[in-house]
Amino acid sequence: MGTIDLMAVRRASMEALRSCGSASRLTGDRVVPPIDMTVVPAVTQVIAVQMSTYERALKRANMGLAGICEECGKPIGAKRLSALDAVTTCIHCARRHEER
Ligand SMILES: [Zn+2]
Repeated sequence: MGTIDLMAVRRASMEALRSCGSASRLTGDRVVPPIDMTVVPAVTQVIAVQMSTYERALKRANMGLAGICEECGKPIGAKRLSALDAVTTCIHCARRHEER
């Protein structure tokens, strides 16, 4: 299992938020029209969900539960774990969520 660098995740999230806001900054002598600010809450929401997944995965790893599906308790496939650092459910449970 790869290491989860929470600080790196936080930094990346802040970068993402900053790049959203930077569209309304002055560039040279002209003002760039601000982006549609209505998308910002949606972006923030996505980041918050990702953050909570990372934090949950980290907590589970600390409890010795890394690689165990938090829903069905079965082992998460090694392939799935190596593809995504912060998975907390097996592929079957993840698919079930997507189908909802
Ligand atoms: Zn499962």
